[in-house]
Amino acid sequence: MKTLLTYCPSIIHDPPHVLEDIVHGHPIQPKHFRLEVDHDGIAWLVFDTPKSSVNVWNEETLREFNHNLESLEHDTRVKALVLRSGKDRIFVAGADLKGIRSMQPMRVNDLIWLGQAVFDRLARLKMPKIASIHGACMGGGFEVTLACDWRIASDHPSTKIGLPETQLGILPAWGGSTRLPRLIGVRKALDLITSGKLLSASAAKHAGLVSHVVAPEHLETLARRLVREKRPTARFHLENLFAPLIGRIAKKKALAKTRGLYPSITKAIEVVTHAVSRELEDGFKLERDAVAELIKNRETARLIDLFFKREEASKRPALVGTAIPIHDAVVIGAGVMGAGIAHTLASRGVRVLMTDVTSDSLARGLERIHGLVSDAARRRLVSKVQARDTLDRISTTHTPVPLNRHHLVIEAATESMELKKKIFADLAARVSSDTILATNTSALSVAELAKTVPHPERVIGLHFFNPVHRMPLVEIITLPETSPDVLATAISFVQKAGKTPVVVKDSPGFLVNRILMPYLMEAVRLHENGIPVKDIDEAMLEFGMPMGPMRLLDEIGIDVAAHVAKTLAAAFPERFPQSNALNKMVAVGHLGKKAGLGFYRYENGKEIALGRHADVPRHESIQTNLALLISQEAMRCLKEGIARNADDIDLAMVLGTGYPPFRGGPITFARDTGIIDY
Ligand code: NAD
Repeated sequence: MKTLLTYCPSIIHDPPHVLEDIVHGHPIQPKHFRLEVDHDGIAWLVFDTPKSSVNVWNEETLREFNHNLESLEHDTRVKALVLRSGKDRIFVAGADLKGIRSMQPMRVNDLIWLGQAVFDRLARLKMPKIASIHGACMGGGFEVTLACDWRIASDHPSTKIGLPETQLGILPAWGGSTRLPRLIGVRKALDLITSGKLLSASAAKHAGLVSHVVAPEHLETLARRLVREKRPTARFHLENLFAPLIGRIAKKKALAKTRGLYPSITKAIEVVTHAVSRELEDGFKLERDAVAELIKNRETARLIDLFFKREEASKRPALVGTAIPIHDAVVIGAGVMGAGIAHTLASRGVRVLMTDVTSDSLARGLERIHGLVSDAARRRLVSKVQARDTLDRISTTHTPVPLNRHHLVIEAATESMELKKKIFADLAARVSSDTILATNTSALSVAELAKTVPHPERVIGLHFFNPVHRMPLVEIITLPETSPDVLATAISFVQKAGKTPVVVKDSPGFLVNRILMPYLMEAVRLHENGIPVKDIDEAMLEFGMPMGPMRLLDEIGIDVAAHVAKTLAAAFPERFPQSNALNKMVAVGHLGKKAGLGFYRYENGKEIALGRHADVPRHESIQTNLALLISQEAMRCLKEGIARNADDIDLAMVLGTGYPPFRGGPITFARDTGIIDY
């Protein structure tokens, strides 16, 4: 029997037994692929895993793909190959991470060998090969297309292309790190691989990842046309000659930015910049060796775990209750949050009626939304048509109108219990008895608000974070009387809005702000005791926080932080003492970034840390002290049942505050390091 290696002379010089172990002696039953050869001699190879909404690469799918390539090599009728997906919204979602998570590092290594060999075989197939991409094309899903001559993509919003591996602590190792810099040049390849970002079809074309973007229904015609055209030849990228230098600069920048906390990024830079000037098979070896090293890190395991927690929270429906699909919503308040929420919902296909008290405030809200939409279009995150559709879905009013046709109202008016109570009482009179009334309050009691309406079981908190278009988390705040259908609808609605819901109980500070506050207040106390602002922030940046606590307080606004601190001090006086420091700052107008002065002074786009100098304890002790407070409060929330489980708390802190994802979240961190006894 011929083995895969027979067709892959390029990798034969390395120990092949691993590969042979995998490929020998397994009869292949067609399951994941359909291969049809039409009268023009075009082979249409359709990846379509049965009973699943996704296609992923694992040992089984790779072997079946390999088998199809083998039969194509012998089929003299075939003049060209078009690879496509049978799924609605997925081309190939990448590697089967579930399988990888449970594998021993040796087996992961085997799988990498296999993927490299099979994709290399595709690249060597002596016929034009076209990847016709419709839907998500990520990681290994994109790497297989790099072995084709053409990549063409549909302009559908579900088409997203990229290599997110570094975000999971590994790197593209099925030829992606080696082939991409040859295709688009080392700089763009580094940008795509180290950021892990996913590009829309239009952005992918701009970056040179695909050659054509057309409507989904035109992909087939385009593929038929391309097979008759001359195959594209490899482009010469002058910059690739300077790859080592580019690599050194990129690595220096990455180390400064990540403080060495993300080894996958620096490793990817090394592999990409070295692989580009070597033979393909040497590049593949660099990829394999790098993954073999990275896969052993605990941080990689934490990043992969977190990926699954997020996937689950973003996709799993509620366990009880029936979700009603929501196609339109009312947003009360056109301020920072109201406009942000309206924009996010409209961009996800929800029709929005946005209200405010004056036409001026509505105009300001609309201006904000226009800004967000044109920024997204400029950065090719959305097409012009999608941008226009988003704006078309938003209407406004500043006069009371009947709302009895709407199933959901989200209140995002000024933070005042009195005002919100009035709004809720007024809404109760204008909506139908089955409308869900949601509030975006950041600190007020949802239970208190629910008392003002005849159907408290239909009141819920939907706590979006600022800026809404960037922050992936929504806390769903429930009351004991919340109806299961209302909760199920809220979960499914938040998921439809492209956000990750975490269900929490109505309790002061809800989950994220409650856990964050002791940390922020301790940072203020340390500063009062003479530790400079800069040292406190540096310590937590070294821990992996995206921003130090003092800068964060300035961003949030000292007045807002003081308000949340007051709410928590009233609820938990023994643990949250009143902060005089914040109150004093508020009294003199040092409100943080918005006032140009807080713990930092903001001048000409720069921030200058203020503060006295003192004998600074080592950064580690500041770190341990502050990180411990986060984990302790997280544990208290778990014990009090504020969130449903530890995974939700970890996820909420990572998504809501940027808690270092490679640490897995504050509860996982506590478990891993033993800083808290259970
Ligand atoms: P904002 O001041 O920017 O906007 C509030 C808007 O509500 C204003 O346009 C105001 O005119 C409008 N408004 C006041 N009374 C109204 C009424 N009766 N009907 C309709 N509109 C009315 O405030 P924001 O920052 O957008 O905050 C809104 C809500 O979101 C607050 O509850 C706040 O706590 C919460 N929140 C804010 C943030 C944040 O970082 N800004 C984050 C999460 C939650």
